[in-house]
Amino acid sequence: PSLEFELTRRQVEKGVQEMWWYTCDQLHQLRKKVEMHTEAKEHIDQILEEGLDHTRVIQYDMTKLSKLDGLGTWREQEAADLSNLVQRRLHDLQNPPDCSKAKKLVCNLNKGCGYGCQIHHVVYCFIVAYGTKRTLILKSRGWRYNKNGWEDVFRPLSDSCISPNGNTHSHWPGTNDTQVLDLPIIDTLSQRPPFLPLAIPKDLSDRLTRLHGDPAAWWVGQFLKYMLKPQPKTQDMLDNLAETLGFQKPIVGVHVRRTDKVGTEAAFHSIDEYMGHVESYFTTLKMTQPDVVKRVYLASDDPTVITEAQKKFPDYTFIGDSNIARTAAVATRYTDASLKGIIADVHFLSLTDHLVCTFSSQVCRIAYEIMQSFHPDASGFFRSLDDIYYYGGQNAHNQRVRFPHTPRRSDELSLIPGDIVGIAGNHWDGYSKGMNRRTRQNGLYPSYKVEEVVDIADFPIYADNQN
Ligand code: GDP
Repeated sequence: PSLEFELTRRQVEKGVQEMWWYTCDQLHQLRKKVEMHTEAKEHIDQILEEGLDHTRVIQYDMTKLSKLDGLGTWREQEAADLSNLVQRRLHDLQNPPDCSKAKKLVCNLNKGCGYGCQIHHVVYCFIVAYGTKRTLILKSRGWRYNKNGWEDVFRPLSDSCISPNGNTHSHWPGTNDTQVLDLPIIDTLSQRPPFLPLAIPKDLSDRLTRLHGDPAAWWVGQFLKYMLKPQPKTQDMLDNLAETLGFQKPIVGVHVRRTDKVGTEAAFHSIDEYMGHVESYFTTLKMTQPDVVKRVYLASDDPTVITEAQKKFPDYTFIGDSNIARTAAVATRYTDASLKGIIADVHFLSLTDHLVCTFSSQVCRIAYEIMQSFHPDASGFFRSLDDIYYYGGQNAHNQRVRFPHTPRRSDELSLIPGDIVGIAGNHWDGYSKGMNRRTRQNGLYPSYKVEEVVDIADFPIYADNQN
């Protein structure tokens, strides 16, 4: 299929979703206004019910459309080819012919934050390594989650080159000739290179934007795929858990981030809110699988959540380990037991068919990123209760206006086609929030009037692995 065809098809998919979110929110507002009129309220409820059913049928047909005419097979093949290409490049980068002469980038795993944040830190280092054609050297001794370091749980990032030694050393940015460069955390990086997330490499951009609805998440997912290869004992732990927990598809992944995050970096969301979206997923699935078992993998740093969920939603099978949650870090606990728990939770969340979570949490964003490497395009397999997908420390995330918009309320943006809007968030009610870069105005705008701008950056050419 042509790039234009695929972009349009995905635009329609998003459009249908946005239209339903808009309608739904507006009807709920209207419902409050007619509080006294039982008949009107009932009518609205009926529209909500039938409208949702209507939407599901269109979405079902859209999914079918994406697989017709051999497109399903093409998608599978193209996804595998692209992934293999990137994995070969990373393998070669990490295994230079002569480690003593190789250009290196040194990254310290021990950023002062949680597991998800540290893993994202390493991905950022890896992207900079790829962008500067340097072998990534990971320092992980004394890791807060496991003092023996990374290699105690994951395979080393290289089979042949793990020493940070070299003839010349410098801090970022150094020069091209410096053999060993130390990279600071992204938060304090000066002279930021253009290839930081959400950028994707130019030489893959045509293929990637055609294949995938969220190329940036796919790209990050490829680094995670390379990095997070479990050591045999970690693999055993995951296999055993899969069996004892009875992990089985179809399954929805729910991540409930509570404890230290609530009230500081994110708002509280009730289990009912998460489950509303889960229920919606299964209602759609029941159109084709009427007898489906409603299974949920539930991960949380709050061990009471699973008990509450089981009590409130007895028609669901909840899979999850309250032991894992009990050992989960409450900001200060970074033990080997909590490491196993978070590795397992991220692993199983990424293996689910659909994620319901808060993207303000790095835990869920990592699961989403890894998930991308298991499907040709899983960019729509999630529902975030708060943020849109982002990467901490990312360059601006922009959208381009397709249709003009005259504000209907004072907090809305005025738009003309071609305007670039920096998106801050989607309110999941038909509107997004952001800044019109032409007028410097901040405000709400209808999500359906814009399209994504994919950030395409120049990365080095990897001549040995072109296709
Ligand atoms: P964020 O704070 O949610 O953005 O993510 P971080 O990964 O940076 O820090 C949160 C830490 O809390 C994690 O690394 C875990 O140690 C712990 N945690 C949070 N949610 C879960 C969960 O669902 N399961 C487990 N096992 N641990 C969690």
